[in-house]
Amino acid sequence: MTDTSLCVFCGARDLVSAEYLDSATRFGGLLAKAGITLVYGGGNSGLMGAVSSATMAAGGEVTGVFPEHLGVHEVAHKGLTRIHFVASMHERKKMMFDLSDIFVVLPGGFGTMDEIMEILTWRQIGLHTKPTFFLNQNGYWNPLLDMMDKAIAEGFARPSNRDFYEVCDTLESLMEAVFRHTEKKDSEK
Ligand code: AMP
Repeated sequence: MTDTSLCVFCGARDLVSAEYLDSATRFGGLLAKAGITLVYGGGNSGLMGAVSSATMAAGGEVTGVFPEHLGVHEVAHKGLTRIHFVASMHERKKMMFDLSDIFVVLPGGFGTMDEIMEILTWRQIGLHTKPTFFLNQNGYWNPLLDMMDKAIAEGFARPSNRDFYEVCDTLESLMEAVFRHTEKKDSEK
């Protein structure tokens, strides 16, 4: 058992390939089995809904952080362990960051990209040392990963930025990476 909290950033839209929704569901179940608390944006649609519902269904713990004004675009999940309603997107991102030890990025859209780039840029300026893991299912994140490599190759980012994140092609390798980190964290206590 671990007291690790893991923040997932992922898409909120339902109209995506079932493969992605299935992986999010599997991932949610694996988190519950591992005793890892899921922290996420609190919505009930898309991969966000899939991962959180699966963690709850498997007996896990889920904390949602939902902006009050988002109701016209997204619907808050009503069946979570706890949900914090916050005043703005910025407050949401800050609270998700504060509550979490690890960040995982599943496939997602503009919101997901905004969220993960903020975490990586906060790391760049030394605000934290928390790890990030991308689930690069079907190479979904390759264009973003290539862009980050290009920024490093052309001198716009430090080569050491590449250590901020790990890329995992499968759920199995993602879980291995997460466990490596939780074991390290538990042994440092
Ligand atoms: P998306 O990847 O676009 O489906 O969005 C995933 C999540 O990110 C959703 O819960 C969005 O509400 C959230 N999101 C969208 N834009 C932003 C933003 N500018 N800052 C923080 N979160 C956002």
